Amino acid sequence: MFTTFFFDMDGTLFDSMPMHAQCWEEAMGHYGFQFPQRDVYLNEGRTGQAVIDEFFLTYHNRHATNDEIEELYNYKTHLFEVQPEPPAVNGVAELLEHLHRDGKQVYVVTGSGQLSLLNRLERHFPGIFAKERMVTAFDCKIGKPHPEPYLKAIEKSGIAPEQGMVIENAPLGCTSGHRAGLFTVGINTGILTTQDLIDAGADIAFDSMEQFHQYLISQNVLTK
Ligand code: MG
Repeated sequence: MFTTFFFDMDGTLFDSMPMHAQCWEEAMGHYGFQFPQRDVYLNEGRTGQAVIDEFFLTYHNRHATNDEIEELYNYKTHLFEVQPEPPAVNGVAELLEHLHRDGKQVYVVTGSGQLSLLNRLERHFPGIFAKERMVTAFDCKIGKPHPEPYLKAIEKSGIAPEQGMVIENAPLGCTSGHRAGLFTVGINTGILTTQDLIDAGADIAFDSMEQFHQYLISQNVLTK
């Protein structure tokens, strides 16, 4: 019986990945590098520094220098900061309300560490999230794809692992949920495929939040 639902944030609750991808492409392009958008999506969840180093290893057969990391990351961050706030992912507000109505526990488990996080969640999804039901960058040392964030979530919620479900849009997030021993659902909200999410460790994957919502109803996890 699933009682507790652990939601990733970027790309799962908020449709922020197209903006990230666009800013990465533009920042890399500014320094003469081509950064395929697919790589942005495959790397989601890594720190900016790790994304840049991974890029140099893959396409230039060497590590990035500290200067390259700093310049590229600062420029990308600057581009992202001036973007408008991303909208909620289609269908997620309806799903969260249904979970709440049926008495399920809802957590957010994110590598993000913005102090205004709860305010933003409250503005978009009133009454769903609470400070004691959040795992953020402040709770974790290692981060996804390590299981640490979801192990922390299990600990905070006090549930048995078989009562919890992870909802993730990114391959590295699916790996993290799977390694924590939780049933992991991949929602492909970007340019990857559901197979990419299954390959990364998701138990099941959908192409939209609406499909996942219908699945929960069909499995009697949620009421009609
Ligand atoms: Mg995500």
